[in-house]
Amino acid sequence: MGTPMPSPDKIDFSTLPIYKPDVECTSRERIRAIQLAKLIDQVNYTYDRVSWYRDRMDELHVRPSDIKTLDDVRKLPFTDKSALRETFPFGLFATSLDEIVEMHASSGTTGKPIVVGYTKEDMDVWSECIARLAQMAGVTAGDRVQMAFGYGMFTGGFGLHYGILRIGGMMIPAGAGNTERHIQMINDYGTTVLIATPSYAMHICEVGEKLGFDWAASSLQIGLFGGEPCPPGLKAEIEARMHITCTDNYGLTEVMGPGVSGECLAHRDQQHIAEDHFLWEVVDPDTGEPVPEGEMGELVLTPLDKRGIPVLRYRTHDLTRVTTEPCECGRTLARMDKVRSRSDDMLIIRGTNVFPSQVEDVIASIPRLAPQYRMIIDNESGLDRLTIEVEIHPDAFSDSFEDMNQFTQEVTAKLQSVLLLRPVVRLLEPNSLERTLGKAKHVDDRRRG
Ligand SMILES: [Zn+2]
Repeated sequence: MGTPMPSPDKIDFSTLPIYKPDVECTSRERIRAIQLAKLIDQVNYTYDRVSWYRDRMDELHVRPSDIKTLDDVRKLPFTDKSALRETFPFGLFATSLDEIVEMHASSGTTGKPIVVGYTKEDMDVWSECIARLAQMAGVTAGDRVQMAFGYGMFTGGFGLHYGILRIGGMMIPAGAGNTERHIQMINDYGTTVLIATPSYAMHICEVGEKLGFDWAASSLQIGLFGGEPCPPGLKAEIEARMHITCTDNYGLTEVMGPGVSGECLAHRDQQHIAEDHFLWEVVDPDTGEPVPEGEMGELVLTPLDKRGIPVLRYRTHDLTRVTTEPCECGRTLARMDKVRSRSDDMLIIRGTNVFPSQVEDVIASIPRLAPQYRMIIDNESGLDRLTIEVEIHPDAFSDSFEDMNQFTQEVTAKLQSVLLLRPVVRLLEPNSLERTLGKAKHVDDRRRG
């Protein structure tokens, strides 16, 4: 108990469990055959049952019988968030509501929420996808798994919960909030796995340190992160300070929720896609045309056996690249890189494209900085101004003015060389930025006009 997993170069992958080896480790040819059979069935199902898709396909003069190869998916219309908003709440549902056993919705920060419904079969697929990614991280039936996501309409809480039950782990449904209580529960119940957003895991870590909790001696071994993209710097920091191994997973409410892909321990920051349930494409975000394998583009997903809401070619606005090279963990399912900034998160500041992930990468490369930052953009003076507030690592804090002044100059220069514009950098004392329970808010755009 309390011993972190060995570093990946010392892991014996043959001893780690694989939830569904006959699929996860099968040949590429067989995966493609499974995908094609399911795609043909799914397109027929969708065309027959969802008038919104039938109309779009009729406009494009595409019939379900035109889908004969996997590449034929390109004949189908794209779907984006607006389709789910236009048809709110149930317009894209393919079954009667009697067959829906659970509903979830996105938070809907702008406009109406995205509503999704799951049939019994959809719930089975979902929990299996979660079971797979939990086992990729080393979670087994003997684990005690503490949930720090909120339960509710958000897909993260219940989605992960059902998947852990599927592998026989013990769920501790603590839910969101009350950090000290989380730490107490880890201690009292011998929790071995924590499910949280990475920013909240960091917060639990820091509160524990302040309370004098000895993370090295605690029972906790694994962090399953989700709900927000996890910067590699933050993950490494949490692993070192909490003495645990953390993996990330990916998914979005519109196509299922978490579980589309999960990180194995052989290639950190890459995630195996559940390809027997999702057909992936990587396209040029501007033209919608496919990019060659291994090149960066926008991820487009078609769930292959969704019954409640079948979605065709969903544009995720997430940038990634995908490889089908076999993986040392034994799995043959394609791996996607940790998603970069959503393509619609790109900021245009003084005419320059700026991605928050660029700022994140620079901060992660400077050991004296903590991975906590905030970008503030304003134009009070008429010109766009980017201010980057970043916390100094607790071990590297100094109150010498000269030292801090010089360090600020160094950080500014490094950011300028990457962003191609000069930000105002404010170095903050450790723990000055507000920690959020949900998604860490890294961008505060205050521009008017
Ligand atoms: Zn792998």
